[in-house]
Parts: sequence; structure tokens; C-alpha cells
Amino acid sequence: MKSEKHGFEAEVSRLLHMMVHSVYSEREIFLRELISNASDACDKLRYEGLTNEKLLDGTSDFAIDIRLDKDTKTLTISDNGIGMNKKDLISHLGTIARSGTSAFVDNMSGDEKSDTNLIGQFGVGFYSVFMVADKVEVISRKAGSKKAWAWISDGIGEYTISDAKKDCSGTQVTLHIKDDATEFLEVMRLKNIIKTYSDHITLPITLISKNDDDKAEEKEVSEKVNDGTALWARSKSDITDDQYKEFYHHVAHSFDEPATTIHYRAEGKIEYTVLLFIPSQQPADLFEPSRKPKVKLYVKRVFITEDCEDLLPGYLRFMRGVIDSEDLPLNISREMLQNNPVMTSISGAVTKRILTDLEKKAKKDVKGYNDFWNNFGAVLKEGIYEDFARRDQILKISRFHSTADEELTSLEGYVSRMGEGQDTIYYITGDSLLAAKRSPQLEGFKAKNIEVLYLTDPVDEFWMQMVPEFDGKKFGSVTRGAADLDDKKDDEKKANTPEIEALIAVIKTNLGEAVKDVRISNRLTDSAVCLVADDNDMDMHMERILKMHNKLDGGASTRVMEINAENSLIKTLAAAATKKNSVAALKDASQILLDQARIMEGDLPDDPVAFASRLSLMMTNSFS
Ligand code: ADP
Repeated sequence: MKSEKHGFEAEVSRLLHMMVHSVYSEREIFLRELISNASDACDKLRYEGLTNEKLLDGTSDFAIDIRLDKDTKTLTISDNGIGMNKKDLISHLGTIARSGTSAFVDNMSGDEKSDTNLIGQFGVGFYSVFMVADKVEVISRKAGSKKAWAWISDGIGEYTISDAKKDCSGTQVTLHIKDDATEFLEVMRLKNIIKTYSDHITLPITLISKNDDDKAEEKEVSEKVNDGTALWARSKSDITDDQYKEFYHHVAHSFDEPATTIHYRAEGKIEYTVLLFIPSQQPADLFEPSRKPKVKLYVKRVFITEDCEDLLPGYLRFMRGVIDSEDLPLNISREMLQNNPVMTSISGAVTKRILTDLEKKAKKDVKGYNDFWNNFGAVLKEGIYEDFARRDQILKISRFHSTADEELTSLEGYVSRMGEGQDTIYYITGDSLLAAKRSPQLEGFKAKNIEVLYLTDPVDEFWMQMVPEFDGKKFGSVTRGAADLDDKKDDEKKANTPEIEALIAVIKTNLGEAVKDVRISNRLTDSAVCLVADDNDMDMHMERILKMHNKLDGGASTRVMEINAENSLIKTLAAAATKKNSVAALKDASQILLDQARIMEGDLPDDPVAFASRLSLMMTNSFS
């Protein structure tokens, strides 16, 4: 076959343009990316080979070779892993397949300097080779196939695919090193890079170079460079922070700093080693609907799978790292992993350990814990309704914004600040902190110095329904039911004003079925009106979320309208309510009050056009 030309996907072209012109100072990371890919490819074949021995075709010693040739100015990284067929080459090396790289592209601004910084933050995988090479040839043969393919590109606009020859399965990537990157043809420099970034890779990484000694016959020298013992199997005291960090980058395919490292060995009836990290930034796939945990399972230092749903609960899916079991059989298949008692026991114990470590961190390092919470709190809270057994523990380490403080608070903190006689933990839900803070329903609580928690993650609505109380105190929404803000005598006095009574009657008549009731509010101090849910109705924000996801059976509930008897508009309307000639104006006013309350909730008026025309009429009247 002659070679076929393919254009890169537009986004890849943008990315490559940046790589080709990159001024990124740590170009050496390209080697880490290639070694990481080679190691993953070997892990994959080893695992597939457990159930399909034919794929292995006799291969048992997986290895990565790095060959440098100063004469041809090439550097070649080879592995005997799973390999790629033509389709794989096109989809993996011609598009943006992985989420990390697409997050990178999404964040690209076009400004060279800030985009360069992103390389370090996100990593760009295979495409980083174009920082150091002006031509790249990939020859690959997929395990199970006899056919090999060559993918060749100079990183500008297009690549070619053609037939190739290769003796065994695996991939060989040859870089034609740029003139300004010849440092990557020096043995010492390469050894250094491999030690720094890839020492923990468990496969042997061998550096092969020609002997430079000019008197000697031209001979090849090869040397195994990496330590090769699994990092998690080493003792903690032998591991530096940098080594942990590099390992995290490798297992997580992320390039931030790990915020927390959890490394221990469990001994006893079931033995396993855990090396887990909490990232310091949200991974791009955090809110994917699959909610799959991303921790890799190893058995006796051999990679088994990273696709194991039972390893950790979905609400800990932000964790990255490995769990290495001594008790599972090496040839364990995907089916055998499901409902496996050893797995269940490891998962339970590791979950407990993670939550306990978080609890300790929350006490010892408030700032660090709050950073963690801002990144992953919304995910962890899923555990409150999913994991009944650990509900209390998760509630204890949950944090909230509140009217009392700009900092996050715990529920314990809230309870300790509750005033005498207060028996309810008040909260308000909303789409964002800003929207919740602006809610008129908070006015009376603020005026009376009663703290209210802001719950602004969609998940809050769900757990709140299942958790009746904390520490013996029930939860109460400030947008539902009558607000129990004391001063009952005052309220009665207000309620007795005949004008206000008349206004309430007029509004009820005018709005009819559109509201459930109209009453005087003791939760408003500034605004004229607000809507609240009746005691037994669904919380208003919850209803909006369900509506958004088309999960609402039947129509939306009607709401109770509360009016603020102290508000000057309400007073004016009340005075008019007893006069005969204001009937028409009050009809419009009632509707505008309702629409206004809806708008404050972030909803639209039922009929926005009618709302606008009523408002126009009122404005016209007030100026004429
Ligand atoms: P990542 O490795 O993070 O997914 P890359 O851009 O480095 O992103 O690689 C894209 C994909 O190409 C990989 O996910 C893998 O499927 C494939 N790939 C890259 N290198 C190899 C290799 N040496 N062997 C087999 N597949 C590879």
C-alpha cells in the first residue's frame, strides 16, 4: 500500500502548532510521556494475556528499550506491549482522545506564555514529542495481528499511514531530534531524565547507545536505568516527595501536585498495599456520569485493571493511585472481580481509612482541608445518601458556607453557635453561592442573627431529603413552611391591620389558583414579597433541579406567597386595598408581585410578555 495522508483533527493541529513552537523549559517531559505510554501498553497486554494467551505469542518479558543514535540524530522508544492497528493509530494519534489532553485544549487561550504554563499543569501526552523532534515515526503491531503499520508526521497539519514490518507486537516510536534539542541524544542526560521521572516503572527500561570510544570497534552498550521496584512496595522512608509526585503523575495521568498521599500496608487476614493520592486540582472527568473509581488494581505487583468498580465507592472517585493485593489470584478475570469477598473487604477497609485520614486532616490543616473540600466536597457528599453506614462520618467531615462566616463551617460548628431555644439547623439551597446569598427569604434570619447554611451543590437536595437531623437537631429549609422566627405577638399585631387583611384578600382573589396561600411574612425585612414552599411540599430548588432533568411527575407545586407588612410598597397597596377605585390597578399589582417573587427565585414569570406590558403600563402611569 502506498502511504495514505490524513489531516489532524483541528484541535490537534492547534495543539501541535503550540508544541512545534514551544518555549516550554521542561521539554524533557516528552520522554516521561512515551515511557508511560509504553508501560501502560505492556500492562494492558499482560492483563489481556491472562484470559487470551494467544495474544501473548510467547512474550513474557515485557520491557522498554530506548535506543539513541547520534549519527542519525534519532531516539527510539520501543515496547512489546499491546500495540496499535491502523484504526487505533488514527484515533489515538490523530485526534484528542483522552480527557486530560482535551482539558488542556479547552484551556488554551492562544496566548503563548499562559498556554505554555498549561503544558506543565495538564500534560499533553504523545503530542509532546514535537517539542523536541521535527519528524516522528511510529511503527506498531497490535497483539493478535500479523500486520504492522507506520504512522509518520512532522507535526504540521497531517500525518501518513502506510504498511510496515515488525517482528513482534508492540510499538516503536522514533524521534528525529531537532537541532536545538541534541541534549536528548546524550546518555547522561537521558539517564537523568529516566531516573527523575520513570524510576518507579516496574518494567526494565534499558538505554542502548553506541560506544563513543573511537578506538574501539563500534559496539553497542546497553544499561538498565530504572530501579524497577514498585514504588508502593518500598518503605515510606526510602521514598522522596519527588518520587511520590512523579508516581502520581504516572498513575493519575495528571500533572498537578498530589494534595494528600496515603501510603500503607495492611497486614492480617487480608494483605494489601495502598498508595493513594488526593489530587490538588479537579480531574477533568470528575463529573462524568459513569462515576467510575480510577484506582488501579494490582495483584502481587502485577497490574490487573483500572476498570474495577468495586474497588472504591463512586463518591471517592477523585482518588488516584494503586491498591496491590497479596490474596487475589494473578489470573483473576473481570467477572471474578465482581462481588469478590476479598475485594469487598479491601474496599471497605480502604474507604474507612480514607475517611479517617480526611477527618484528621480537617482537624490539623484547616486550610488544606478546605481546599480539598472546594475541589471534591460535592462528590464526597454523594456518600451521605449512598453509604448509610458511613453517613455520620461523612456528615462530620462535610463543610458548608453559611451566613455567619466567609470561611467554611462544619455542622458541629453550626450547632455550637445556635442560639438559646433554636432547635433547627437552617439552610437554604440555590444554584450558586451568590444566588443563595441574595435570597429574600434570608432577610429575617439575618436580621435576627440566626445562622443559615448555604447549600449550593445539586447533590445537597438529595442527601438533605434522607437526613432528618444532625446531633439531635433537625434540618429546616428557610424557603419552606412558616418561619419560626419568634416575636409572635408582633406578627399578630401586623396581621390584624385591617388594610393588610384587605390586601391579602384582594391578592388571593386576583391570583386564585396561582398561589396556595397569601400570608404575612416574618422572614422578610426588606423585600416586599417572597415565595415559600408549604410544609409538605417539595423544596423549591429541588423542584427546579428535577424540572431541569425532566424528572418531575405532574406539574410544579403552587407556592405560598408571603408579603412584608413593613415594606413601603406593601403599605401603599394595603392603603389602596380598601378603596373601590383601585380594583384594576391592584389586579395588575398582584400579578406583578407574584412575577417579581418568581424572578427573585431565578425563575421566569409565567407570561413574560404580559409581565412586561403590566410594568410598562405602571411606569407610564407613574410619569403621567
Ligand atoms: P494517554 O497516554 O494519556 O492516553 P497519549 O496522547 O500519550 O495520551 O496517548 C494516546 C493514546 O495512544 C493512548 O491512550 C494509547 O491508547 C495510545 N498509545 C500511545 N502510545 C502507545 C504505545 N506505546 N502502545 C500502545 N498504545 C499507545
